[in-house]
Amino acid sequence: MDVETECTVDPREAIRKLPDYLNHRYGVEFLFNTVVTDIAYPHLTAGGEKWSADRIFVCSGADFETLYPALYATSGITKVKLQMMRTGTQPNGWRLGPSLCGGLTLTHYSAFAHCQSLDALRTRIETETPHFPQWHIHVMMSQNGRGELVIGDSHEYGLNPEPFDKELINDYVLDYLQGFANVPSLAIAEKWHGIYAKLPGKTEFIAQPSPNVTIVNALSGAGMTLSFGTAEAIVEGSLAAVAELVSVG
Ligand SMILES: Cc1cc2nc3c(=O)[nH]c(=O)nc-3n(C[C@H](O)[C@H](O)[C@H](O)COP(=O)(O)OP(=O)(O)OC[C@H]3O[C@@H](n4cnc5c(N)ncnc54)[C@H](O)[C@@H]3O)c2cc1C
Repeated sequence: MDVETECTVDPREAIRKLPDYLNHRYGVEFLFNTVVTDIAYPHLTAGGEKWSADRIFVCSGADFETLYPALYATSGITKVKLQMMRTGTQPNGWRLGPSLCGGLTLTHYSAFAHCQSLDALRTRIETETPHFPQWHIHVMMSQNGRGELVIGDSHEYGLNPEPFDKELINDYVLDYLQGFANVPSLAIAEKWHGIYAKLPGKTEFIAQPSPNVTIVNALSGAGMTLSFGTAEAIVEGSLAAVAELVSVG
């Protein structure tokens, strides 16, 4: 959905289209199914082949084990698992309009930290519905171009997230959602979980293990939003500018 001040991107669509766009527009060459196993600037090994590069950017997401594991181990970085759900296409071309969230979201994002009544809200949630803070649940819903509703989410922290999803968490999310939204069909078509990297208390993790090698990671739950600006600022060469840029967001 496009409005003057925001747009909602469907990650499944974007992740498939972006490589083609970057290839056609800028000639970027992608090598899929090719793991980088070693970096010794200016060389790196990818898929068993040796490459060399002027600058190397390491953006390996939640894989902290393959490259620079010792550096990650001392960084405080961790993983976050989110349970998600998606309905089928809503009947009769029904459109949600703007993405929705409820009161729990006020306790999740630091953008609301300055709100004077936040402590009272947090106390009430902890007292009346402790399962929400227990699973770090806040509830958001958006609609994609196929008319499906995407609903989430919970947050479980730790380096070894469980593969097992908890139906109870999905029930909590759907119950809360129905307290502020009434949609034609909440029949769930797909459930899944995603995992992202997070450095608690920070909006990103940037490190330079050696000159001209830059690790950029842990954009947490805002990577789809912040990555383009962050990447531009880093490639332009000012890490300080990046730190300033993301801390005001
Ligand atoms: C459920 C969920 C909902 C989200 N919702 C939002 C949202 O609404 N808005 C928002 O802004 N952000 C959102 N995010 C966050 C966003 O998806 C992440 O911040 C972002 O994907 C991080 O990008 P990244 O490139 O750092 O890591 P990733 O997207 O994890 O990509 C890293 C890639 O590197 C590859 N890789 C790792 N190691 C190697 C290696 N050695 N060699 C080669 N390849 C390697 C991995 O296979 C992976 O493909 C959400 C995340 C999740 C999980």
